[in-house]
Amino acid sequence: MTESQQSGPDGRSPGNGTLHALSVDVEDYFHVAALSRVISPDDWGSLPSRVERNTERLLELFDRHQVKCTFFVLGWVAERYPELIRKLADHGHEIASHGYSHQLVYNQTPAVFAEETRKSKMILEGIIQRPVTGYRAASYSITRESLWALDILAELGFTWDSSIFPIHHDRYGIPDSPKTPYTIQTSNGVALREFPLTTARLFRLTIPAAGGGYFRQFPYPLFRHLFRLASGNDTRPQMFYLHPWEIDPDQPRYNDASWFSRFRHYTNLDKCYGRLERLLNDFSFGTVSESYEAYQPDRIKLHQNEMIRLA
Ligand SMILES: [Zn+2]
Repeated sequence: MTESQQSGPDGRSPGNGTLHALSVDVEDYFHVAALSRVISPDDWGSLPSRVERNTERLLELFDRHQVKCTFFVLGWVAERYPELIRKLADHGHEIASHGYSHQLVYNQTPAVFAEETRKSKMILEGIIQRPVTGYRAASYSITRESLWALDILAELGFTWDSSIFPIHHDRYGIPDSPKTPYTIQTSNGVALREFPLTTARLFRLTIPAAGGGYFRQFPYPLFRHLFRLASGNDTRPQMFYLHPWEIDPDQPRYNDASWFSRFRHYTNLDKCYGRLERLLNDFSFGTVSESYEAYQPDRIKLHQNEMIRLA
C-alpha cells in the first residue's frame, strides 16, 4: 500500500474543522538558500528550469481536491512564466509576492529591499491585473534584524505578511512571537496582518510543523499529529507551505553541497506528493486570506517595537 492510500486512519474527512492556510512558494530548485553556496544567482538563467511543470502538477492536485491555495511567486519566476501565473489566478487561487531575487531580507539594505519588493509587486500586478497585497520573505528572513521591512511592506501597499516563524533557527525566527494570526502596528501607523508559520509544543519543545523540509523529514503521522496539536485540535488556523521542487525527485542533484544542505533539500522528495494528498484529506484548507478571515477570535495586536522584545 502506498502512503497516499493510507489517508485518514483517525477518521477525519475533508470539510471539517478550521480552515487552515495552504501556501506554495513558487521558486525553482536552484533558488533555495540551502544550495546558495554551490549555485550562484549568475547561473540561474542557464540551469534547466523545472518550476513550471512542478507548479502545474500542484495546480492539478489542488483543482482535483477543490482547494484554493495562496501562491507566493518569486518575481524572477513571474517574469519568465507569466502564463503560469495568469493560469493560477484564473483557477481562483490567490497570488502573493515572494520578493524578486530570493535574497535574505536581513542581508539587504532597506533601499534595496524596497526597490526589489516594489518591482516584484508590479510584475505580478501587471500579469494578473489586480492588486497584490500579500508578501512572504525568502527563507522567512523578517527577523529582529529586519523588522524595518514591515514599514516598507505597508508603504508599498501590502496589507498582510507571512514571513515570521515563531522559532529558534539558524537562518530565521522571532522565537516568542504569536503562534496564531495577529496584527502588527507598524512604525508608520499602518496595521499589517501577520499569519505566522506553524509550530507545535511537545515535551516542552517548540517544533516547526509548517511544511517544507519538516513535512518531508518527519513521518507523515507525526507531522499530522504536530499540525493538529498546533491547531488546538483543529480550532485555530495554521499555515502550511511547500515548494514546487519538493514534489520533484528527478531534479538535478548537487552532491558538492554540504551533507546538512543535501539532507534538508533532498530527503523524501519521492514521498512528498502522496503525503500532500493525505494532508488535503485530513484537514480543510483555503487561501491565506480566506483562512485569516474565517478566524474570528479577538486577534492579538502588537506594535512593531514590541516585536523586538520577543526576538
Ligand atoms: Zn523561497
